[in-house]
Amino acid sequence: MTISSLTRRQALLGGATLIGLGATFLPRIARAESPAVLPPLPYADNALEPVISANTIGFHYGKHHRAYVDNLAKLIEGTDFVNQTLEDVVRTTQVNPNRTAIYNNAAQSWNHSFYWNSMRPGGGGAPSGSLAERIAADFKDIDGFRKEFTTAALGQFGSGWAWLIEDKEKKLRVMRTPNADTPMAQGIKCLLTIDVWEHAYYLDYQNRRPDYVAAWLDKLVNWDFAAKNLGA
Ligand code: MN
Repeated sequence: MTISSLTRRQALLGGATLIGLGATFLPRIARAESPAVLPPLPYADNALEPVISANTIGFHYGKHHRAYVDNLAKLIEGTDFVNQTLEDVVRTTQVNPNRTAIYNNAAQSWNHSFYWNSMRPGGGGAPSGSLAERIAADFKDIDGFRKEFTTAALGQFGSGWAWLIEDKEKKLRVMRTPNADTPMAQGIKCLLTIDVWEHAYYLDYQNRRPDYVAAWLDKLVNWDFAAKNLGA
């Protein structure tokens, strides 16, 4: 280290000595961003119409998702969580009953980003390539998957999520989770998710969750995203 770079670093530290600080401080300034970030939507807010209206996206992304991120930012301010990835915050807080608020807001932040990417304009239909083979192997066919996924999405009492995941035995399976819970917290590889909280569909479908789930599978589900997550 040259004298001029040392002087510059000391200036950055407000004159604090580097001794004993460098090892922990330097990686932190190298980290790109806080775990509490609202990522941009991967499409325009009206791009999923008519299945999901711009009005629903405006509230769901613009108010609900934003609130989870903003709440998370406030809850972790001044803690070591600001230096962790969002995934690490979710995993380390889910087993700690004193960290429920952080867990709920972190998991909902992650789940919503995953949900936006689980849909695309002009989506739906059936997967291709090796993902199609895996679906056929573990669900018999695409209709078998569809039936299980729909049962999970409709069977989730109250708020929650339905998922396509790869389990630890490398088998594709459908899961459902209540409220903010996410399979990612247990280190399970997630491929797709649908949000079945009422705020995801109530403005467009009111109480008709089955219509929302059917339209989602017919016209929005993003199989390219699932294939990318599977690494297929
Ligand atoms: Mn939601």
